[in-house]
Amino acid sequence: MEEVLAAVRVGPGKTEIREFPMPEIPADSALMKMEVAGICGTDVKLYQHPPSPAPVIMGHENIGYIAKAGREFTRRKGFKEGDLVFVEHYVSCGKCEWCHLGQYRHCENTDWRHNPDAIRYGYTSAEKPPYLWGGFAQYMYLPWNAVMHHVPRGVSPELAGLVTPMANGIEWSLFDGGVGYNSTVLIQGPGQQGLSQTVICKQAGASLIIVTGTSKDKARLEVAKLLGADHVIDVNAEDPLARILEITGGKGVDVVLDCTAGAGTVPVLLGMEALKRKAGLMVVQGEMADFPNFPIGKMTVKFVTLKSARGHSFKACELALQQLASKRFPLEKVTTHSFGLDQVDIAIRSVGGQGVPDVIHASLMPWK
Ligand SMILES: [Zn+2]
Ligand SMILES: [Zn+2]
Repeated sequence: MEEVLAAVRVGPGKTEIREFPMPEIPADSALMKMEVAGICGTDVKLYQHPPSPAPVIMGHENIGYIAKAGREFTRRKGFKEGDLVFVEHYVSCGKCEWCHLGQYRHCENTDWRHNPDAIRYGYTSAEKPPYLWGGFAQYMYLPWNAVMHHVPRGVSPELAGLVTPMANGIEWSLFDGGVGYNSTVLIQGPGQQGLSQTVICKQAGASLIIVTGTSKDKARLEVAKLLGADHVIDVNAEDPLARILEITGGKGVDVVLDCTAGAGTVPVLLGMEALKRKAGLMVVQGEMADFPNFPIGKMTVKFVTLKSARGHSFKACELALQQLASKRFPLEKVTTHSFGLDQVDIAIRSVGGQGVPDVIHASLMPWK
């Protein structure tokens, strides 16, 4: 029997290459040959602090070719062998209200926090048959309820690997933040997520985009400028609030997007100050369990709307793929590195700022 190689997280910060049996593909399922699994900040977090002790094939931003498709799968879903596809990490139930709204990310079927039987690529145990539930592997199993998108012609698998941060950019800045023509925006954090937000806000017509980072982010802040940031601020070198107020003539900004990682309460407090006098909006990621001394009084007085970032919808993914296909921005400045299957450990560490320097977006390419 043919074997499939996969990189399995077996404990905190520990990866092993394991072999799995090539799965049987029933008529309503398919098999995807992996091309690129994008690595993001969530991988860094889940690698160091696994949410469960189960062995897991990580990799939740997955691009590949359909290697085998059951007849029912093709008939129902319209995907056939040879198609290049992006598979969302959410696996929908297809029946609930969220699924019908295209908001699979809220479906109980994929909610690993509350449902022990949930399926989500990159999160589900590699002990659950047919085992191939993550992108850090040569093949991935696609049940009938996998949520998929065609990758547009002319978009390479590596470029398509940016679809998740780009879709989050659309969801958070446009759908949640309401960024549009003439908006003024502060984007905190120039990682792949913050840079994707920069592209989306620019495309949507924002008149002012300010991107902040730390001294370590020098190269990333330069890329932010190439992608459309009007101003970049090194928060270690200057007072970010003073600079933002100077740039905006004392007005502050319409929208704040927090794309920082591991910066604690500081970005939210800065965002609260940097928002305009009344009715600004901030999208946060809520990384911390709680927030001591949260300035709720200021939030009320300034009439601030606070929203939580939470992945992406079907529509955001489709728009993100079109954004990639437009080739309108020099996104090759973002797709900086690729790694092979035996380099998963160093790849994740590098995205987390340790290991290979100056990684913005890393592609895990299992056949490399
Ligand atoms: Zn991710
Ligand atoms: Zn559902």
